[in-house]
Amino acid sequence: MSKGHTRNFVKKQVNSRPEVRVRELPPKFDQNGKDAVILCPFCGIPHPISIGKDSPCGTNLRLTAIQTIFPVRTVKKLKLVCMKCHQSDGEMIQFNNAFVHLIDCVPGTKLVAVPPKFSKVAQVVHSLPLPLRRAVERRTGYAKPVTEVDPEGNETGKTLGYFFYKASA
Ligand SMILES: [Zn+2]
Ligand SMILES: [Zn+2]
Repeated sequence: MSKGHTRNFVKKQVNSRPEVRVRELPPKFDQNGKDAVILCPFCGIPHPISIGKDSPCGTNLRLTAIQTIFPVRTVKKLKLVCMKCHQSDGEMIQFNNAFVHLIDCVPGTKLVAVPPKFSKVAQVVHSLPLPLRRAVERRTGYAKPVTEVDPEGNETGKTLGYFFYKASA
């Protein structure tokens, strides 16, 4: 071994460095008008930016929907009960002050976060004798009632209205 001889590994900077780096900042808002305008936080003279549209300065606006999932251990620990099937296992999400399974435990029943457009026609179709109703529903989509559920997840027994539900799958 020769002393004093240090092998100098010079990392090839070009290869070890990523081509680009990312900086992130929450967008700025201009709420002068009725609608909030989202402005580029990187430019000295801010300009509006929008989702899915490239800006000349290279800024993209990214939007992420985040939903909190309560894992099995938390469901067990807090004894959370699904408002649809009334079981206390599996993964759940919160719905108002109640909880509901992440998987569709009662496929016939859907939770509606925002009430759909109610239809008098859907109400009429729903009241038809079943064979006739099924025939009509093949064209219109299912005539479904929307029943009221309080924030704690209990059914109030009130029917808010009817709408045509077209299953996407
Ligand atoms: Zn910009
Ligand atoms: Zn359930």
